Amino acid sequence: MQIESFALNALSTNCYVVYDSGEAVIVDPGDQSQAVLDFLEDKGLSVVAVVNTHGHSDHIHGNAWLLEKTGAPLAIHEDDAAFLVDPALHLGPQIRMDVVPTEAQRLLRDGDRIVIGSGSLEVLHTPGHTPGGICLYGHGLLISGDTLFKRSVGRWDLPGADERALQDSLRRLAKLPPETKVFPGHGPSTTLGEELESNPFLTSL
Ligand SMILES: [Zn+2]
Ligand SMILES: [Zn+2]
Repeated sequence: MQIESFALNALSTNCYVVYDSGEAVIVDPGDQSQAVLDFLEDKGLSVVAVVNTHGHSDHIHGNAWLLEKTGAPLAIHEDDAAFLVDPALHLGPQIRMDVVPTEAQRLLRDGDRIVIGSGSLEVLHTPGHTPGGICLYGHGLLISGDTLFKRSVGRWDLPGADERALQDSLRRLAKLPPETKVFPGHGPSTTLGEELESNPFLTSL
């Protein structure tokens, strides 16, 4: 399983292309990105799904465009499905992002698997930043959305957020192997072990 990252839009939201054996899943297309399309073409990848770690506008802004370009289905956790079509939840107006409302074809739950080529990633439901936030875990990788960042965590003061749920989600992530490579929704990648030692939100759990 391989992963490539693209920082998109004014908030530098990380869009990840996860790929194996000619198939790719695109996580959080935060903008219309020709660079992502060029990468897919260069590598000869066919997109089997577009997945949103959660429904905030900076993670979903490129959904409609990318679905049209790739013909892939859109997946999001069932508890964030309403975010896709509700500006009061995805918060596009606050950051001047005009999100085209797009329904998901697949509603995810904890424990579901996203198959990519000969491998797969497991859906971990990690609410707190939003009700239906997820992380994707497998092959030593954790795509952590806005739940866990290098040395920080996602905000818990936005509509639908829940500080206690976020702490429970972080406790769950803290049990994964420390060598797990973490790919957050914003900022640089890290490892879980590094965060367990240095991230104040994890050391204080
Ligand atoms: Zn967010
Ligand atoms: Zn974000």
